[in-house]
Amino acid sequence: MAASQLKQRVLIIDDQKSNLKILSDILRDEVELILAQDGEQGIRKATEFAPDLILLDVVMPGIDGFEVIRQLKQDPSTYLIPVIFITSLNDVAHEEQGLLLGACDYINKPFHAAVVMARVKLHLQLARQRLMLEQLANIDPLTAVANRRKYQEVLDRQWRDACRKRSCLSLVMVDVDNFKMYNDHYGHAAGDRVLQQVALTLAAELRRPYDFIARYGGEEFVIILPDTPADDSFRIIEGCRAAILQLQIPHQATGGCLSISAGGYSCWPEQPDESISAFALKQADDLLYQAKRQGKNRVLWTTAAIEIQG
Ligand SMILES: [Mg+2]
Repeated sequence: MAASQLKQRVLIIDDQKSNLKILSDILRDEVELILAQDGEQGIRKATEFAPDLILLDVVMPGIDGFEVIRQLKQDPSTYLIPVIFITSLNDVAHEEQGLLLGACDYINKPFHAAVVMARVKLHLQLARQRLMLEQLANIDPLTAVANRRKYQEVLDRQWRDACRKRSCLSLVMVDVDNFKMYNDHYGHAAGDRVLQQVALTLAAELRRPYDFIARYGGEEFVIILPDTPADDSFRIIEGCRAAILQLQIPHQATGGCLSISAGGYSCWPEQPDESISAFALKQADDLLYQAKRQGKNRVLWTTAAIEIQG
């Protein structure tokens, strides 16, 4: 099902059951609802369910609405979620404070069903548009895998995770062999189709949820295999190489079938430093060129000399 057909998720945080019930009755046909009866539960559910929108009561025992939004805005996993404050009618000071803390809107008690619905729909629509823009900004339009911009973002995150967990991270550069000859022989439209086929095949071979592929540029792809030792990583990329060969795409200019070469580098990141992760990719890239020089259609691998045992 396309994302646009899925119901969006709204988290309602309010200490009064009667409020939860009224809001649920108004919204339940339009959205998927998650309910929380205090601030702590609300923050936990925001992290767990990643709602598209949060309706947040101001006055609650324990952590009040202002503190909840402060915490949500400090957490990278929740700071983008729009928050609508629930305030009592004519409580202008609360409205102002809520907006200053980053709320996108407010609704007044007692609830007016049409107004609640209109405001929720508006902010869900804005959230959906923001998501679409973000997806467009992160996807390579030709192959539909992630683009280089997204690669950098994912690498930064996975690199930090690997530092924290003291786990092995593998980076792989992949290049379509003799692609220029393919383009020259079959034309650019055929070349584009081949890139699409290669991207689709590689993406299908990377089956685990955290495996990541992006188009790095031209006929080059980059793959991140988090938390994967060198020998397993090598096997996965060998599987990719074999899968491309099995497509049996004729490449008359070379007298054979289309193939890929890859260079892989496995390491144990120690500190979140972009120059070090860039160095790691350079190692993979150097091996890719060695693979090319050694006759293409092969995977070469190296592992960082120093292993950090956590
Ligand atoms: Mg309350």
